[in-house]
Amino acid sequence: MPTFKQLIHQYTEKCAELDLPDQTALTYLVELTQKNRVDLYMNYDEEVPEKVKEEYELGMTRILNHEPMQHVLGYSWFYGYQFVVNANVLIPRPETEELVSHILAHIDEHFPNEEIICADIGTGSGAIAISVAKEEARVKMFATDISEEAIEVAKLNALNNEAKVEFMTGDMLQPLIDKGIKLDVLISNPPYIPQKEVLEESVIDFEPHVALFGGEDGLKFYRAILENCNKVLNEKAFMAFEMGWDQKETLTNEVKKYLPDSKVEVIKDINGKDRMLFVLVEPK
Ligand code: SAM
Ligand code: GLN
Repeated sequence: MPTFKQLIHQYTEKCAELDLPDQTALTYLVELTQKNRVDLYMNYDEEVPEKVKEEYELGMTRILNHEPMQHVLGYSWFYGYQFVVNANVLIPRPETEELVSHILAHIDEHFPNEEIICADIGTGSGAIAISVAKEEARVKMFATDISEEAIEVAKLNALNNEAKVEFMTGDMLQPLIDKGIKLDVLISNPPYIPQKEVLEESVIDFEPHVALFGGEDGLKFYRAILENCNKVLNEKAFMAFEMGWDQKETLTNEVKKYLPDSKVEVIKDINGKDRMLFVLVEPK
């Protein structure tokens, strides 16, 4: 049997040949053995148990075939919580964790004391809705998605993480409009990739296209929200969007078209890319 060190080295080389991220082989073994990195380093020269080796090799074969590690594991980590993921939901991205932390800060700034009504449009795995609901007890959270399969995954994630979220299936804001729900905070990380963009294999072959593409210029779903947001927003409210790194200007223009009096704030992600757009509307 190889040692942990030998196994990691062997697969790290294979990953490098395929340009997979540096720590792929190590991270997968850490998750599989449910050890933390330090524990694994302590056992570096021990032999890998037969069963672990078999499972690791099977999993790594899928990962080397560009399948996302999160699909092989069946879960992903987001904002410190574990989320079940499968082919029906987008794997929540690290940039979106940044969106969550800015949403929490904006809630404190604009709604410091009161109960607040929020909705996450296009919730996918439920990552945003569940994390915000867990982190801010004053929030009553709704979440919608067009995909029934996604809503099933999101419901399971709310249950597993003991989060209170009301889920609805339907097209963008329609379920909220139908129920007459009025929001203080509207959140969305809609599909925003322009239809013709070329994506990595691990994304295009394994993630749901309904979660990725936002029409010709990528802005289709923001428009759908902006067109109808006055039907679901309270007089004072904010909207929080994730967007593509090159959509700052076009999206700001769209917002100004529909909501000329609103205040727009664009926030960069940790890589210095324009990634989040907040829109504040207030009574005149
Ligand atoms: N909110 C999750 C996250 O941040 O990880 C998932 C975001 S994913 C980019 C976009 C989500 O929007 C997908 O779950 C997709 O099913 C959903 N979606 C696509 N078209 C929609 C529509 N017309 N109405 C509601 N949701 C839609
Ligand atoms: N950030 C995701 C990706 O690059 C796309 C998410 C989205 O369209 N909202 O695959």
